[in-house]
Amino acid sequence: MTLKRPKGTQDIVPGIINKWKTVEGIASSAAEQFGFREIRTPVFEETSLYVRSVGDTSDVVTKEMYTVSSKGSDTFTLRPEGTAGVIRAMLENGIMNEGFPQKVYYIIPCYRHEKPQAGRYREFRQFGVEMAGSASPYADAEIILLAASVLDGCGLENVSLHLNSIGCPDCRAKYREALREYFEPHRSELCPTCNERLEKNPMRLLDCKSPICKEIAKDAPVITDYLCDDCRAHFEKLKSILDGYEIKYTVDPKIVRGLDYYTRTVFEFISEDIGAQGTVCGGGRYDGLISELGGQPTPALGFGMGLERLIMTMEAAGCEFEPAKTPDLYIAPMGEKAQEKAALLCDAVRRAGYAAEFDLIGRGLKPQMRYADKVKAKFVCVLGDNELESGQAKLKNMRTGEETPVELTDFISVFNSLLINEVFGNGFEDEFSDILSGMQSAPEEPKE
Ligand code: ATP
Ligand code: MG
Repeated sequence: MTLKRPKGTQDIVPGIINKWKTVEGIASSAAEQFGFREIRTPVFEETSLYVRSVGDTSDVVTKEMYTVSSKGSDTFTLRPEGTAGVIRAMLENGIMNEGFPQKVYYIIPCYRHEKPQAGRYREFRQFGVEMAGSASPYADAEIILLAASVLDGCGLENVSLHLNSIGCPDCRAKYREALREYFEPHRSELCPTCNERLEKNPMRLLDCKSPICKEIAKDAPVITDYLCDDCRAHFEKLKSILDGYEIKYTVDPKIVRGLDYYTRTVFEFISEDIGAQGTVCGGGRYDGLISELGGQPTPALGFGMGLERLIMTMEAAGCEFEPAKTPDLYIAPMGEKAQEKAALLCDAVRRAGYAAEFDLIGRGLKPQMRYADKVKAKFVCVLGDNELESGQAKLKNMRTGEETPVELTDFISVFNSLLINEVFGNGFEDEFSDILSGMQSAPEEPKE
């Protein structure tokens, strides 16, 4: 029997971890540049949190939740999205009382029971941000700018911003009626879920993925015709701020977003390069959510960016990822005595701040060199009886093939300068010797 991972999940193996580190690094640096601080919350929350916030007519709550019960009667749900848990944590930890705006970001796995396909998984990862306390359209622009800056940092150009306003509960009451009137004559053609949506939450119909419902929805009334004066002014101001930043966008009245808690601004960044599941990032304003979860009424907004889809888009566009880290040094000992010395040298090299490995298997020289090649070690040092007796070895630069003699008593300082010149280019060490000596404490040579 071979054990397999659950359907719709993925293993992120060491060979591709650099892709993940690249996007996580770009996302967290950008968030910190905009003044967002990282927050980490539990993978599971009380089920009622999602029912209350995401909404009991949303796909997420009606079809996609992984709900488990533990001993007792409580039920918990693996988080299908980040916002609800993060707002719950900000309230529970008094962060909302620490002055506004509060800005947090997170990189988390999410769980939704969906039909797995390209770009749609049951476990996927999101980079998300939330900002609480600002009603200004500059805040909307700020998070859109942050998402754009992450996409830009990843090297993506063909991702377009689709923007809409879905108004406030006042505008939406009138709009819902208009939608009901429009869809009612088509009732028999709509999918069963949309029939239900027509009763409970007709705006959801616009988010249906069935081709028939999509076709019917084509000529439906648009929310932008129903916005109240305040919501309209907010939307107009946001567009003019984005124009000022020279951010391109398309106003798309069909974007209503899958989760119930949005108000006013909603947006998606859509990639043309990865097929049907092209929405890389979705977000918007949710001015009603914080009071819904028991806090003071507080305007807030955020977005979630799907990291699998982001990486897929980068791959399709031929973007570069940061290369995997490789050892600075591989020490190849021949024999037991040499292994003892190699272990101590390796330890000293690591203490000096470098990545080093030595043979742990007792292999001959050839397989060791193949290994050093495979792990892309920058330097290799062979240690045999001769080297131990004479106290002299050679440091081989694996890129150039050049060998530099080194006294074992002076190993670290010679290695130090070879590596600095290898990484930063020859002459770097001389030119910046003052700065370097200030930065590093004197490297320690290994004990004899
Ligand atoms: P979709 O319309 O594609 O189902 P959604 O509206 O359900 O997306 P959100 O809840 O807004 O998605 O989540 C934010 C982002 O997370 C999406 O834009 C997408 O990039 C990513 N995402 C959502 N669901 C999945 C999934 N099942 N697998 C991979 N990524 C996902
Ligand atoms: Mg979805």
